[in-house]
Amino acid sequence: MAADKEFTATSFNAFLNDNKLMASRCAACGALYLPPRPLCASCHATDMEWVAMKGRGRLTAYTVIVVGPTFMIEEGYDRKHHYCAGIVQLEEGPGINARILDVDVKHPDAIKIGTPLEVCFLSRGEGESKKTFLAFKKTG
Ligand SMILES: [Zn+2]
Repeated sequence: MAADKEFTATSFNAFLNDNKLMASRCAACGALYLPPRPLCASCHATDMEWVAMKGRGRLTAYTVIVVGPTFMIEEGYDRKHHYCAGIVQLEEGPGINARILDVDVKHPDAIKIGTPLEVCFLSRGEGESKKTFLAFKKTG
């Protein structure tokens, strides 16, 4: 069980390394938080529990990024190789920032709000230095 992990970004990232997308849910009012938080913004309760997200949702906003942060440049994205970052609203409700794969970054106008997406986990590095990035791709 995942029950013992603190409701922090560190725990969230550890779950990502296990290919799990986890949110925190307020046991008092049911509000979902992604990334997780230890205190409910809605009712101020501190009684949180981990819940696994199914990893399906829809694109609600996006940006095609031309000059990204260093770690993206190291992956080969630059002025000629753009990538897409967006906000995905999950079926469970919360929205999350993620990289959006499989979209035509050369024709951003063709990227459609509302596109159904499913989660995928991009792992970089091994062992202690392993880091997993959250990404979504088109379903089907
Ligand atoms: Zn609450």
